[in-house]
Amino acid sequence: MIKTVKDVDLKGKRIVMRVDFNVPMKDGVVQDDTRIMAALPTIKYIVEQNPRSLVLMSHLGDPKKDVKKAQEKAEKAGKTWTDADAEKFINGKNRLEPVVKYFAEKLGKEVKFLPDALGQKAAIDALPEGGIAMLENTRFHKEETSKDAAERDTMAKELATYGDIFVNDAFGTAHRDHASTASIAKFVKTSVGGFLMEKEVKYIEPMVTNPAKPMVAIIGGAKVSSKIAVLESLLKNASALIIGGGMAYTFLKAQGHTIGKSLVEDDFIDTAKDLLNKAAEKKVRIVLPVDHVGAEGFSADAAPVAVDGMDIPDNLMGMDVGPKTVEIYKKEILAAKSIVWNGPVGVFEFENFAKGTGEVAHLVAEATANGAMSVVGGGDSVAAVNKFNLASKMSHVSTGGGASLEFLEGKTLPGIAILG
Ligand code: ADP
Ligand code: MG
Repeated sequence: MIKTVKDVDLKGKRIVMRVDFNVPMKDGVVQDDTRIMAALPTIKYIVEQNPRSLVLMSHLGDPKKDVKKAQEKAEKAGKTWTDADAEKFINGKNRLEPVVKYFAEKLGKEVKFLPDALGQKAAIDALPEGGIAMLENTRFHKEETSKDAAERDTMAKELATYGDIFVNDAFGTAHRDHASTASIAKFVKTSVGGFLMEKEVKYIEPMVTNPAKPMVAIIGGAKVSSKIAVLESLLKNASALIIGGGMAYTFLKAQGHTIGKSLVEDDFIDTAKDLLNKAAEKKVRIVLPVDHVGAEGFSADAAPVAVDGMDIPDNLMGMDVGPKTVEIYKKEILAAKSIVWNGPVGVFEFENFAKGTGEVAHLVAEATANGAMSVVGGGDSVAAVNKFNLASKMSHVSTGGGASLEFLEGKTLPGIAILG
């Protein structure tokens, strides 16, 4: 477990805290406040401890990438591009000020917006007793995400002057080694996690270290290439690995089945074979689809065609798992004491092909109600669970897509490693 805000005395201290307020925005309006709401308990707790000051920091979007795209577009259209354009573009699109206003309303307290992440020491010193402030987007400075540690340190050193204690509650960026997520810890005395970070670690870590057994991992999604590391990692503790979604077809092809027009990564056939061999050695049951719902084309209005067997005819692509497969899922999932789910087992965005993923969501909910520990991670898997209104029925639904995947892969996350 990590050290948290509860383990240190915050009274009279200056706190500098990293949150993940990287929320979807449209025309300066917050579209989904999940991440803001998820950080509120820790922020409220800190405020109740009467610190001298609380300074919040976050990134919003990916300004460097956005500017590059805009520049390419402008240059293609024959326009010249200047640093001033970049500046205007950054300030137009990724400014945190509207997010800070939204957050202040939810917190019910005044939050001073500081118009830059750097150069704010005097403004912070001038905050009233217990004052709260939030910095402009940390990624407006290239040092934040620099690959050069010394460059990151120049920014981290200055951010560290804003507080005596660093609190990291940004699980969504915990897999990034950035100035405001990790490097800053080198320059403050104490670094601790918030409650969100604590909860993510508490639920996800045991799944890779020491889960209650039997453990079942349900891994789906589009590509083997993006999930191979997580499959390898979960293989260590799992009794069964359910492999579904688009990536299942690479495995089925590796076993010699016909897969029709299904998604396949031919470069990963050998990798798939390796994994199947490893699983056999370890006596881990691999559950691949034994029947399918196919379609002639990849579209929302494609007619669903039942494929009653493992092999898929030439004219069809596998879009969802069939009812016999769901029966096997049921047996495995309801017998499990721990369940990790990452990746939908079908194209759940299309109504005609959402059934298998819906069944998985209901089965995991049922197992959880019966006492199993369940963790759902991954952007699309979380979207699927929300679609079926079952998020509250899971033990834990992770707030971090990339971070939860890397955590499940067994990697050390820089933003967690620095917590004392
Ligand atoms: P997560 O975000 O939960 O980690 P992924 O991004 O790996 O999940 O995969 C999600 C995507 O996989 C979804 O967009 C879904 O439509 C797609 N998918 C699932 N099953 C199939 C399939 N049979 N064929 C093609 N794509 C699929
Ligand atoms: Mg995804």
